[in-house]
Amino acid sequence: MEQLFRDDAYCRSCEATVVGADETGIRLDRTVFYPMGGGQPGDTGVLRRADGDEIRIQDTRKGAAHDDVVHVPDAGAALPKVGERVTAEIDWERRYRLMRMHSCLHVLCAAVTGDVTGGQVGDGKGRLDFNLPDTRLDKDAITATLNRIIAEDHAVAPRWITDDELAANPQLVRTMSVKPPSGSGRVRLLEIEGVDLQPCGGTHVRRTGEIGPVRVTKIENKGRQNRRINIAFAD
Ligand SMILES: [Zn+2]
Repeated sequence: MEQLFRDDAYCRSCEATVVGADETGIRLDRTVFYPMGGGQPGDTGVLRRADGDEIRIQDTRKGAAHDDVVHVPDAGAALPKVGERVTAEIDWERRYRLMRMHSCLHVLCAAVTGDVTGGQVGDGKGRLDFNLPDTRLDKDAITATLNRIIAEDHAVAPRWITDDELAANPQLVRTMSVKPPSGSGRVRLLEIEGVDLQPCGGTHVRRTGEIGPVRVTKIENKGRQNRRINIAFAD
């Protein structure tokens, strides 16, 4: 399975060949669909058949093998045949919002001091949990810091390092709940130039300016040490 979204998050569609189709989902030889993982939801979209018919994809999941991507069709959808050629096309507007919010949460990591224990990218909103005893976090101050870094328009790009380099630099692992995949020999890092660097397999915008204005909507105390910071797009 060739995962086109790894190298080009802006790739909206691709031609592909069906290599498997059963009640669990449809597998292609290559895809632009991101499978749920790292706090980012799976893509939705369509597989367009040669006759123009569309198979609606309601979710995308990882399969058993590490590079396996399973396109989950709507219940009762007609399944394509193995060997059939299709055009795989994601719901770009939704994916782009997810990319903007995912990049925004990485900026949030840099704006707040503390270990991240969990997080979720949502459509138009997102949140991160921090291991922090401080209950006086200021919503407006964090909002201002986020929007300043976003407006500075830093470059955002993936960078690969070896497992050994990561083991030698454990401070790169900011998220304690999401351990970076290792064992394949190399790890994908996401770098926001001058702002943040951490392992991430998700899809991101090219520059922080694309995120647009955001605001901290709520800071919740989820236990003595756990602060949950909720973010939403301001527009
Ligand atoms: Zn990430």
